[in-house]
Order: sequence, then structure tokens, then C-alpha cells
Amino acid sequence: MAHKISDACAGCGSCVGDCPNEAISESGGKYQIDPEKCVDCGACVASCPTEAIAPE
Ligand code: SF4
Ligand code: SF4
Repeated sequence: MAHKISDACAGCGSCVGDCPNEAISESGGKYQIDPEKCVDCGACVASCPTEAIAPE
């Protein structure tokens, strides 16, 4: 299990710094969560203005 970023992501980048595990990264303008690093803490969910992050 891991949290996932949907197509609702607006690319603002605010979730990146809120992850205590550095699981969120950007590549080619698209943000993604590394399921190997995500510990499902949920900290990134509240930081997303477009509600693009949810548990898988
Ligand atoms: S749920 Fe927690 S560990 Fe997983 S990506 Fe979000 S902030 Fe990082
Ligand atoms: S906070 Fe939400 S909209 Fe901003 S980069 Fe992260 S997932 Fe995308």
C-alpha cells in the first residue's frame, strides 16, 4: 500500500517538502510517489490544493 497522485495534480509542488520520507518526486513535470518509500502517513494529503493525493 502507498499513497498515489492522480491526474488532478496541478503540479504546484507543495507536497514534496511535506513528505517526511522524501517519497514524492517530480520528473518531466509530473509528480509521483515512490511506493517503496511511502509509509502511508498521510501528511501529503492535506498539503494538496486539488485533492490529488489519496491512499491507493
Ligand atoms: S503518505 Fe506520507 S510517506 Fe507517503 S508520500 Fe505522503 S507524506 Fe510521504
Ligand atoms: S500538492 Fe497536489 S497539486 Fe501540488 S504537486 Fe503535490 S499532488 Fe500535485
